[in-house]
Amino acid sequence: MTDPRSRYLAMQRELGGDELILSGLGELGRSAGQAVAPESAPEPPPARPTPADWRKGAPPVPDLPGLTITAPARGLMDQAPGWASLDEVARTIATCELCFLCKGRTKTVPGEGNPKAELLFVGEGPGQSEDATGRPFVGRAGELLTKMIEAIGLQRADVFIANAVKCRPPQNRKPLPDELTACWRYLERQIELLHPKVIVALGATAAETLLQVRRSLTDLRGRVHSYRGTPLVVTYHPAALLRNPNWKKPTWDDIRIARQLLDR
Ligand code: URA
Repeated sequence: MTDPRSRYLAMQRELGGDELILSGLGELGRSAGQAVAPESAPEPPPARPTPADWRKGAPPVPDLPGLTITAPARGLMDQAPGWASLDEVARTIATCELCFLCKGRTKTVPGEGNPKAELLFVGEGPGQSEDATGRPFVGRAGELLTKMIEAIGLQRADVFIANAVKCRPPQNRKPLPDELTACWRYLERQIELLHPKVIVALGATAAETLLQVRRSLTDLRGRVHSYRGTPLVVTYHPAALLRNPNWKKPTWDDIRIARQLLDR
């Protein structure tokens, strides 16, 4: 499934919201409100691909003010190590023993993607598949993230995907504050080196880590924050969408807000 329309249709099926399906099909030649074929029916014949499909029904970029994170004033003693490249950060992570998570890891998961990516996704931490492969978001949640990336007209290879912690927490528990603190230096430097145009925080752990607040996702979603001058959008974690499909539609909206920010 490589053409934009197939990817978009797959996303529509995945996200499943009526409004989303109708808006998508409306654009693809049906009038809104016309009966939607059941999922088991054969796919309609391919229409001309329209790369901007994701725009149909997308919410506008919210103008509600967000939080602003400025770079901390650093003293000589708390200077983050100035690794020169993403590869150097990854090599350092590979031998890191700064916290307890190093004890149980199979592989470190530094993050991956385009070193010139304009869009950066930040998740919580590796799960089982990621720990086994050393790659972020390759399990079921990752498949969903990949579909969303493709549905906004990009490929995984266009973006960068990282996590708040780089080693798998036992039983996939939430990383502890000291683990997040120990690992922060790596994400911080990755963001400095990437200098993305837009950051998407996937879930509360990533949002709280980047924005240095403890707030509900409800409170943090629906506005554009600023992480050291870079627009930052908060949305649900893809794994949460697998548990609660009602969050797929709001997540798709958030992702489309981030996509619009890329064009600014
Ligand atoms: N969940 C995350 O937060 N990150 C991954 O890499 C995979 C699952």
